[in-house]
Order: sequence, then C-alpha cells, then structure tokens
Amino acid sequence: MTEHPLHPRLPFDMKPRAALAAEDALLQQFIFTATHEKDRGRVRVCQRAFGERYDALRGLAGAIKQHTLDHLDSYLERFIDRAEAAGARVHFAADAEQANAIGARIAEAHGCRLCVKSKSMVTEETGLVPVLERLGVEVVETDLGEFIIQLDHDAPSHIVTPMIHKDRRSVARAFVRELGAEYTEDPERLTRIAREHMRTKYRRADLGISGANFLVAETGSIVLCTNEGNADFSVSGPPVHVVFAGIEKVVPALRHLAVFLKLLARSATAQEQTVYTTIITGPRRPADHDGPGEVHVVLVDNGRTEILRAPTRELLRCIRCGACLNACPVYRKVGGGHAYGAVYSGPIGAVITPLFKGIENYPDLPRASSLCGACFEACPVKIDLPRQLVWLRRESVEQKVTRWRERLMYRLWAATLERPWAFGLARFLQRWLLRWRARSRDSGSQGQRESPLDPRWMTALPGPGRGWTECRDLLAPPSGTFRKWWRSRGRGAESKGGGP
Ligand code: SF4
Repeated sequence: MTEHPLHPRLPFDMKPRAALAAEDALLQQFIFTATHEKDRGRVRVCQRAFGERYDALRGLAGAIKQHTLDHLDSYLERFIDRAEAAGARVHFAADAEQANAIGARIAEAHGCRLCVKSKSMVTEETGLVPVLERLGVEVVETDLGEFIIQLDHDAPSHIVTPMIHKDRRSVARAFVRELGAEYTEDPERLTRIAREHMRTKYRRADLGISGANFLVAETGSIVLCTNEGNADFSVSGPPVHVVFAGIEKVVPALRHLAVFLKLLARSATAQEQTVYTTIITGPRRPADHDGPGEVHVVLVDNGRTEILRAPTRELLRCIRCGACLNACPVYRKVGGGHAYGAVYSGPIGAVITPLFKGIENYPDLPRASSLCGACFEACPVKIDLPRQLVWLRRESVEQKVTRWRERLMYRLWAATLERPWAFGLARFLQRWLLRWRARSRDSGSQGQRESPLDPRWMTALPGPGRGWTECRDLLAPPSGTFRKWWRSRGRGAESKGGGP
C-alpha cells in the first residue's frame, strides 16, 4: 500500500521524498513557475499599493494579531458571547478527535446525507472528511483545487493553491474518469464541467461546512474569503452550516479587517482583493432571502494553546496566505508540500508541524530551510520564521531528537573550536585529506581558468559528505593557507586581490 502524502509513517523521513521530487523535471517546473510568479506578483502589487508604507502595514497587521493573541482568552469570550447572541451555537474542541466528533454529531442529529464543503485547513488538520464519510455522508469539496484533489484521491500540496503540483492534463483525465466528462484541456470548459457538477450538489446538500479566515470578536461574525464564491454557496444553500476554525483566527473588531483584507489577497495570489469576501453573523433571519437556519462554530485548539506559550506565540499570527511557501527556495526544490509529510508545508509548516505533532516525529523539518530569510520578508504579519526555525533546531538538540551521529559530530566540532591547537591540527588534516582525494579538472578547462592557482575538485566525497557531491562538485582547498598568504603580502599591507 502506498503511503498517504500527509499521513506518513512516523518518524517522518523527508529526504527520500525530496530526492524523488528533485529528479522530477515536470514537477519542478510546475512548482517553480507557480510559486515564482506568485512571489514576484506579490512584491509588485504590494509595492504598487503601499510603496514605502508596506513594511509599516505588515508591522500593524502583526501587532494587531499579537495583541489579540496576548489577550486571546478575553477576545474568544467576547466572540462566543456575540456569536451566540446572534443565534450561532459555539462549540469548543480541545483536539482533532473532539472536533470531528462534534461535526459527526451535528450531521447525525440532522440526518445529513450530502455535505458541500469549502476549503478549510483546520478540517484537513483534524481529518474530518473520512469521519463523515464513515457515517454515510457524501462530502463534496467545492473549492476547485480541492475538488480535483478529491477526485484524484490525492492530498493538497500548498495551503492556498492545493493542486499546485498538477497540470490541466491531469485535471482533464480526472474529469473523464470520475465525472464521465468529455476530454478537454481548455481551462474554461474544465471549470464549466466542475461548476455544473457542483451546482447539482449545492441544490441537494443538507449540510454545509467551511473554515474561517477571521472571526470578529466585536460582532461574533465569521469572515470567508474565496475567489470562486463556493463558500457562499456552501453557506447559503444547506439548512445547517458548520464553521471549523482555529482559536487563533479571532481579530478584535470589524475595522481591523481592513488591514488584513488588504494584505491577504495580495500576499496569497497577488490580487488586489479576493473576489468574494463574505461576513456571516448568526443564522438566517426572517427577512433574509437565503442562509442556513442553523449555524455552528467549532473552535479548535488541537495544540494551539501549547504554541501560545512564548517563544512560539507569534506563529499563531499566521493568516495562512501561503506567501512564505511561494518565497521559499526549499519548498520549490523539494517539489511542494507533499515532501513535508503533513497538512502544513513550507516554512510555516516546517515550524508548526513539529510543534503540533512532536519534534521526534518530524526531525527533518526544522532543518528544511536555508535560513535565507525570504519567508520573513514575504510574511504579511511579520512572523520571524528563521528565528523560529533556529529555536526549534535548538529544541531538537535539547530533546535529543537529532541522530546520534549528528550529535557526535557537533560535539567534536565544539571541542575542536574550543582548543586552538586542535583547530589548527583539524584544519591541516582536512586540507591534506581533501587535496589528496581531489583531482584537477581536464587541461582544456584549466586553460580557461582565470585563477593562476591550482584548483582541484572533489567529485565524490566519502561518508556523510556524499550528499554534497551527489549534486555538485566541491572545490578543494588551495595548497597554501590564508595565513601564509597574508604573511607573504606583509601583515597589514593592502590586498590587491589574487588570494590563495
Ligand atoms: S507564516 Fe506568514 S507568509 Fe506564511 S502562511 Fe502564515 S501569514 Fe502567510
């Protein structure tokens, strides 16, 4: 049986998946094109809209979220009071099991058979859909990307664009196979096929499920942002609607939405605004034309109160825009989200997955970053992801999650650095060994070299160093040392280039 991309055997080893993805030229092209374009688009639209104020706006968004997290208990209470006053029923789920049980209970109580569901990361996290399906409820994902993923029995590979790893040919094949549609690669016709299929489901559905982009404490409202309008159909059609939201989704007041809505779409998809922004406050009122007669809100903790404790609290500012994924060179190179073995991928996933599921189960993720800082630059709420990754690496060392060979290597490294004589000896041995193993390149290329010195190259390092030379050659150290060269130039004399 093949391993599910998001539910791998634990502890999860990221390297085999990353290595496979790195060799898949088509996948590399899909991921690179999509993420690169979105990342460049984000920079362009943010610069156009905010200019020099962009950084201040990110700071403001981060500060609002941080303030809310610092007073989360009171904002959650206010949200619950206002939402219940508006007629919604609010539930609290301590973990995934409780969240799914609440969803299942509501479906059973109403005898639901068909559920239209809009995109919700938190239900991916809890695994709600299989639970409902076991009860005999047909669940239809209505976000186009999620719908295609569902038809293919696949898993999302990006938190905003779940089918980033697929092209229109695979969509066409899925529609022929699962919907009996005529083969077409035309995006418009493909969209029309999906729309017609879903409209029949919307008309018959007796349960709607969605996530929430924001929960407004001031009014007890739920805010949904989509580009396809599918969340609106999922809310307005069925008689019962259930919202699943992480407890960190609260913002204090409606006026704060102005800040987040400005940043969310621009950061996620380089759009000025999402096409549909819907605010739901309680169930349908007598004068309303449509809307559910019953609205439930399930507030999901599932490890969030643990993250809330400093120094990881800032991670809960995340508005799931996906900008850090688009900016991350590692996310691109490992072929997208499946390489992370969990619902949340990219830089934010590399930090929160080990926190949600245990560092011992995801030991590779804190290292799945070059710490280049691109994710921090992209983040609209200024989460310092590199700092969080470094903190998590330290935690994994303290918890002895790192492999014994790695621990031994770092101990030796530390002991060497602490003793000048040992450092000098190690340096000498390393240079001697590398030069002994290295070979000069062919004489033709040597003839074209600008350097007058004798570059030698390692093409196959032994042991753990093999990982480096599998993909590229390593320049061996020159025969002389920097100190020797420095002395030969006269200590303190200005260098005119041409070092060793
Ligand atoms: S960490 Fe920042 S950039 Fe990444 S998804 Fe969250 S809000 Fe977006």
